[in-house]
Amino acid sequence: MRLICNLFGHNFEVSRNVTYHVKEYKCSHCNKELTTNGNGNLIALTPKYREINSILSRIHTKRQSKLNREELHRTYKMTS
Ligand SMILES: [Zn+2]
Repeated sequence: MRLICNLFGHNFEVSRNVTYHVKEYKCSHCNKELTTNGNGNLIALTPKYREINSILSRIHTKRQSKLNREELHRTYKMTS
């Protein structure tokens, strides 16, 4: 399978959305993984970055649910 990548290049697909700006990518042929770093560059997804991403993802999800709660609260206030 790696031969295909050597000949035609990797075929990266988004494997995980970490935040709006940070995503993880996986090559559908050889399973090579990349991620976006803080500067928006693509780099190899090392265990260290995987850990950073899972922390980022947690913070992002928490922030999202907090925003949703506030939105709900505002909507509730407007209708009551
Ligand atoms: Zn590949």
